[in-house]
Amino acid sequence: METEQVKHTELTFQLIVESSPNAIILVNKEGKIAYMNSQTEKLFGYERSELIGQTVEQLIPARYSQHHPGFRNMFFRAPAVRSMGVGRELFALRKDGTEFPIEIGLNPVVTVDGTLVLASIIDITERKKAEERFRLVVESAPNAMILVNHEGMITLVNKQTEMLFGYERNELVGNKLEMLIPQRFSGNHPNHRESFFKKPQTRAMGAGRDLFAKRKDGTEIQVEIGLNPIETTEGNMVLASIIDITERKLQEITLKKQVELEIKNKELEQFAYVASHDLQEPLRTVSNYMQLFEEDYSEKLDEQAFKYIHAVNNATSRMSMLIKALLAFSKLGTNRRLVSVDCTKLVKDVLSDLQKFIKTSGAVITVSELPTINVYETEMRQVFQNLIMNAIKFCRKGIIPEVRVDAEKLADKWQFSVKDNGIGISVSHYTRIFEIFQRLHTTAEYEGNGIGLANCKKIVELHQGEIWVESTPGKGSEFFFTIPPLTV
Ligand code: ADP
Repeated sequence: METEQVKHTELTFQLIVESSPNAIILVNKEGKIAYMNSQTEKLFGYERSELIGQTVEQLIPARYSQHHPGFRNMFFRAPAVRSMGVGRELFALRKDGTEFPIEIGLNPVVTVDGTLVLASIIDITERKKAEERFRLVVESAPNAMILVNHEGMITLVNKQTEMLFGYERNELVGNKLEMLIPQRFSGNHPNHRESFFKKPQTRAMGAGRDLFAKRKDGTEIQVEIGLNPIETTEGNMVLASIIDITERKLQEITLKKQVELEIKNKELEQFAYVASHDLQEPLRTVSNYMQLFEEDYSEKLDEQAFKYIHAVNNATSRMSMLIKALLAFSKLGTNRRLVSVDCTKLVKDVLSDLQKFIKTSGAVITVSELPTINVYETEMRQVFQNLIMNAIKFCRKGIIPEVRVDAEKLADKWQFSVKDNGIGISVSHYTRIFEIFQRLHTTAEYEGNGIGLANCKKIVELHQGEIWVESTPGKGSEFFFTIPPLTV
C-alpha cells in the first residue's frame, strides 16, 4: 500500500513537472541528473536517455562549469528556495555547442534518495534580444535618454546623454539621477519621482515649470523632459527623454524683446508724427504774424527790433526744418520695398547729387567695387548720402577731405565702410551721435540738424544690420554698417 502511495506521488510529481513550461532538472548531491522533463530535451537538444545519470556540468559552458561543483555543494549545505547566480549572467550549453542566456530557480526537494535540487530553467534569449533592441533604440534616439529606476538610480543612458551632460556613461550609470539636477531643485525631486511611480503614465515633466539640468562642468541648461513608464524585469522604471531648449528659450527672449522694441518704436514714431504734424500749424502762425508785424510796423521799428525779428525768423525756420526732419524720420521706411541694387551705381548717383558740395570742399572720394544686394533703395541711398556728407563736412581746417567707400564680404553679411580724414570723434560719443538731434557741435561750427546718423541707424536696422563708428580724434573716422542677405 505504501509503495502504491509513493508511486502515486511520483506520478503526480512527474505530471506536474512534465506540464511545466520551463525546463526542469532534478540533480543530486553529486551533481548527477536524476530526472528531467521534455522541455529540457527541447531546450538543450538532448534525449532524456543521454542526460540521466550524467553530471549537470555537461549543460554549462566550460568557462563556468569548473566552478559549478563548488556552488552546488554550497547549495546542499544550506538548501533553500532561491534563484541562482544573483547579479551574474547565466548561460547554458546545448548539445550542438551553442550557448543561450538563462535564468534558474533552485528548490530543494527531499526524497527517499536524499535531498535533490530541482532547477527550473528559463531561456531568456528572447528577453535579452528585446532588451538589446530597446538599448539600441534608446542609443540611436536623437534626444538624450535616461532610464531611471524606482530608487532614482540611473540604469541606462545613451550617447546623446553623454554629449549633453559631458559625463562618460560609466560616470552616470549606477548613480543617482539627482547628480544631473541643479541643487535648488534636486531636494524635491524624489517626491516628484514617487508621485510619478504611483501613477505612471507617459507625460511631459514639470508642466508649466521651467526645467533646468546641470552639466558635469556645473553649467545649467534649460530642458524639456518627456517621461515614459517602462516595465522591466528589474521593476518599473521611467525613461526620461531630454531636449536642450536653452537656445530656443534664448531666441524666444530675444524675439520677445524685439517685438517689445518694435511696439515701442511704433509708439514713438506715432508720437513723433502726431507731434511734428501738430507743431507745424502754430509755427506757421508765428512766422505769418512775424511777417505781418514786419510789413505793417516797419516804419515804427528800429534796427534793434529788426534784429529781434530776424532772430525769431531764424529760429522758426530752424524749428520748421527740425520738425520736417522729425516727420521724415518717423515716416522712414513705411513704404519700403526690397530691390536688388548695384551699390557702386547707387553711390555714384549719390556723388553726382552731391557734386556741388564736393566741388566746393575739394574732397577726394574713392569708391571701391561694391556689391549688388537686396536693399531698400531710397533708404540705402540716404545712408550713403548722410555718411559721405558727414565725412566731407566734419573735415579739419586746411586739410583736403579724403573719403573712401568700401565693402567687405564677411561670412554671413556685407560690411560697408565710409572712412574720412576729418576731425574724428572721441570714444565717449560713439553711441550718442546715433541718437536723434544729438550733435557734438553748434550750427555755427558745422551745419546740421543732428538727425542724419539717427536716420542711418534706423535704416540699417530696417535691413537687420548694425552700424557703428571707429575713430581717432584729430585723425579721422570710419563708419561701418552691415547688411545681411535679405530675400525679396
Ligand atoms: P549732423 O551731421 O546733422 O550734425 P548727424 O546725425 O549726421 O547730424 O551726426 C551727429 C553728430 O556726429 C555730428 O553733429 C558730429 O558731431 C558727429 N559726426 C558725424 N559724422 C562725423 C564724422 N564723419 N566725423 C566727425 N564727427 C562726425
